[in-house]
Amino acid sequence: MDLKESAQLTQFRAAVREWIQANLPSEIRTVDRTYDGIEESGLMGVWYQRLAEQGWLAYRWPKEHGGPGFSEPEQIVFMDECRQQGAPIPHGFGTSMIGPILMRFGSDWQKERFLPPIARHEERWCQGYSEPNAGSDLAGLQTRAELAPDREHLIVNGQKTWTSAAGQADWIFVLVRTDPDAPKHKGISFLLVDMKSEGISVRPIKQIDGKQGFYETFFDGVKVPIQNLVGTLNAGWGIAKSLLEHERLATGSNLGLGAYLERMRRIAAEYPQGGDPVLLDSEFRQTMSRLDMDSECLRYTRFRLETAVMQGRPPGHESSIFKLFQSELFQDACDLALETMGTDSLGFYDERLSADAYELPMRMLITRAMSIYSGSNEIQRNIIAKRVLGLPD
Ligand SMILES: Cc1cc2nc3c(=O)[nH]c(=O)nc-3n(C[C@H](O)[C@H](O)[C@H](O)COP(=O)(O)OP(=O)(O)OC[C@H]3O[C@@H](n4cnc5c(N)ncnc54)[C@H](O)[C@@H]3O)c2cc1C
Repeated sequence: MDLKESAQLTQFRAAVREWIQANLPSEIRTVDRTYDGIEESGLMGVWYQRLAEQGWLAYRWPKEHGGPGFSEPEQIVFMDECRQQGAPIPHGFGTSMIGPILMRFGSDWQKERFLPPIARHEERWCQGYSEPNAGSDLAGLQTRAELAPDREHLIVNGQKTWTSAAGQADWIFVLVRTDPDAPKHKGISFLLVDMKSEGISVRPIKQIDGKQGFYETFFDGVKVPIQNLVGTLNAGWGIAKSLLEHERLATGSNLGLGAYLERMRRIAAEYPQGGDPVLLDSEFRQTMSRLDMDSECLRYTRFRLETAVMQGRPPGHESSIFKLFQSELFQDACDLALETMGTDSLGFYDERLSADAYELPMRMLITRAMSIYSGSNEIQRNIIAKRVLGLPD
């Protein structure tokens, strides 16, 4: 990737900046995301709606599917400007996960039916992968789908769990077992299911921070038209893995980390009140410098993979590297924040605290989830060892 900027790109950058400044709700600039059904609710929903109206929500997508058709350098500049303006870079189950999968594996009907409403922020998606007994061992999933006697439908029975944002979603992409007698990776199919279908119910799971970001999802005789099958019957595992690569690329974005480190610096200049600020402490400065350098290294390493994806290649197993290092860096940064704030960090539930003091410890809680979701970090280490470094089992 050529990081030098042409005059045309500089002009593009100025236009993006101006638009963000005019359209980003100011509250979002100061408040990091916490895990409450994530990006598509509340003020974040307003931001996403404005992006959609501008045609920028699915900023990586080509025009034919409802995206802006940005060139590769424009995509980078767009992300960079979002970061510099404190604007959340849009991503979600629709734009970052099922969208790219349908472009690659979907039928013409599926592309036409599902992609434009995602880009317009009219239909929201959730992910039905994990089950009570199938998390890391995802291929062990038990939710069944059987061909109905009319051969036009599949009938789904079973349970998913940890389904983020299921309570707000219009559609769910689900992995189902369609051949129980085949080896476990070979009897799985990939289905698109309307959340309003008869037989689907959801139950919220309460989180440690009191919010409800994810749900248990139950399927009781749910009838799904066969045209909602992505790819062919029993060939869902390859599609499922490809989606995970896109997911890890999105969750491994280090852009939120840069903003968090900025906020850390501001906090360290204020703490402790009335004494020498922590910012002057040599131990703090050393840790902060390491975090800054690691964050920058990750950002530049990421450009290599971004280039491949923008050129239409799948992210590949390397996306695990970003997910793994990003989550661990974030956890280290949060530990430093808690040390800096001392006992004030125990007041995370107290909204009378300043936005910073409230938000930093809240972040600590979500970073614990980061090393679990999108596949746990132990699993990412296994993937990197086997698939990237080629080490033996
Ligand atoms: C905030 C959040 C949101 C989520 N959202 C969704 C969602 O929208 N949709 C969805 O389908 N799922 C979602 N998940 C579920 C997530 O994908 C799983 O939690 C994850 O894959 C781990 O599975 P598990 O919880 O069953 O843990 P387990 O698989 O039971 O693992 C338990 C522990 O054992 C370790 N372990 C297991 N196998 C191995 C191995 N082979 N080698 C080394 N260590 C191993 C794991 O690393 C982990 O530490 C979400 C999870 C979180 C935390």
